[in-house]
Amino acid sequence: MENLQSRIAEIMKTRRERAFLNAERDYAEAKKYEDFAALDSEVRRLTLSTSFARSQGKREEKEERRLKDASAKRDKWLSERGLHITPVFTCPICKDTGRREDGTRCECVKELFEKLVKSRSRGCLPPFKFSDNKVAKMACSQSQTLAKAYALLEKYAREFPQSRIKSLILSGNVGSGKTCLMAATGNALADRGFSVLFTTAFKFNKKLLEYHTSDLAAKAHILDELLNADMLMIDDLGTEQIYKNVTIEYMYDIFDTRFSEGKAVMITTNLDSGAILDRYGERIYSRLFNKNYSSFKRINGDDLRLIK
Ligand SMILES: [Zn+2]
Repeated sequence: MENLQSRIAEIMKTRRERAFLNAERDYAEAKKYEDFAALDSEVRRLTLSTSFARSQGKREEKEERRLKDASAKRDKWLSERGLHITPVFTCPICKDTGRREDGTRCECVKELFEKLVKSRSRGCLPPFKFSDNKVAKMACSQSQTLAKAYALLEKYAREFPQSRIKSLILSGNVGSGKTCLMAATGNALADRGFSVLFTTAFKFNKKLLEYHTSDLAAKAHILDELLNADMLMIDDLGTEQIYKNVTIEYMYDIFDTRFSEGKAVMITTNLDSGAILDRYGERIYSRLFNKNYSSFKRINGDDLRLIK
């Protein structure tokens, strides 16, 4: 989430700076007009003299009335032209600082956070939802196994991140509906404000290669998303090429880091568990198939298996 935090800080800073700049620009614009300039210097002069009088314990009622009049005229002049000489903040509550007067975090920061998480997740997620007829029909028209997986994943998404299951593998042939199910799960999570990274095994693999071939300075943030997203979804594992010293090694690092931090990974694949062991080896297999946190489902056959 580190990236997201600094992104939010950056947005708030820009909003605040823009509010001040706009006010300065409007003020410079307004001062070009003689009638405004006269009103403005009148307001300034009266502000000084009345506050000086007050500091001396006196009240110049006549002057104060004139100040009120002049201010009202100046405000009217500005509003007729749509100009603002005091900053107009995106969030008037915290004046775009992100903190309320009592020091607590402003609601606008929370909203921004959710918006960013969602937009980041949405970009890459196929648009299937549990509420779609497509998924519902798919669940009904195909095997009972799929309907069961459907119900389980809907519950999983609703309770996330409470479930102890962190490694979810949907195994099935092309057209079994596993990608739709995974996407529906991802969208349900994104709707609840979690960050979801949905990627294909091909793109995932390319990212690992990019990391491997980058220099040290560039390496720093390449894997951030893969490591930090609340849910990492990899579609079609097993269709990617295995790059020597890259694919298996970094895949292991990512799975190992995520699982050790209690973060979830969801995978669709044509491979069965034996083929996953053969292709990726003992270390990755032992991370993906762990009796404490893994769930493996075949969804195009009758053998729904859940590793307990
Ligand atoms: Zn605010």
